[in-house]
Amino acid sequence: MNFRTVLKANGPAIVLTGAGISEESGIPTFRAESALWEKYNPEECCTVEALHKDPDKVFALVHEMREHCEKAEPNEAHKILTQLQQEGLVEHIITQNVDGLHQKAGSKDVLEIHGNLGVTFDDNMMVRPNLILFGDPLPPIFDVATELARNCSMMIVVGTSGMVEPAATIPWIAGMRGIPIVEINPEPAGFSGPNLTIAEKASVGLRKFLE
Ligand code: NAD
Repeated sequence: MNFRTVLKANGPAIVLTGAGISEESGIPTFRAESALWEKYNPEECCTVEALHKDPDKVFALVHEMREHCEKAEPNEAHKILTQLQQEGLVEHIITQNVDGLHQKAGSKDVLEIHGNLGVTFDDNMMVRPNLILFGDPLPPIFDVATELARNCSMMIVVGTSGMVEPAATIPWIAGMRGIPIVEINPEPAGFSGPNLTIAEKASVGLRKFLE
């Protein structure tokens, strides 16, 4: 299978990324063992309930993540996506990541469907993290992402476990229309058929679109 030929024939593609694409930049995924996730269990800390009960802990997590992410650099996978955008072969990048590495790599049209590590205001004008926490309503940008999935002609899914809803529905929405879905993940979640699955790290998998 020549993936560049598939992309040229069916693209431009929409890309969905998850924490796995930033693993090679040294940012641990939720599923990886790491001191950060041991200290702050995401299922406990990244919730609206936690923000109300123990806001200091949620802000402490955001602060530590921000420190970590600010030091991190985009890896080859982020850079290849930027290159493919510049070639017109990739359009929007829908990301679940909050690390800002796609933008740091020079990518445009990045949809941060889970927010980012900045701050915003809630309905009562209280400062809160600009993350979409478990229990938050979906942000309007999610509708844009869904619309892209409904209309794109190809999708590339990189480094997501498919365990966080509703982001996990995005490839299914696209796939229902019979378009090519390419999944890149050393432990694929099953978003694509066997011929379009690249069971490799993000950088190795995305390199195939340059060959
Ligand atoms: P996840 O942690 O649930 O899953 C990560 C996936 O990446 C796994 O399927 C794993 O097999 C794969 N993976 C690991 N190393 C990889 C590599 N080098 N290349 C390609 N794939 C690799 O992540 P998720 O599906 O994105 O969902 C978890 C949530 O965690 C998201 O909502 C996201 O906002 C948040 N999160 C973000 C960051 C970040 O911003 N970098 C980091 C951790 C968690």
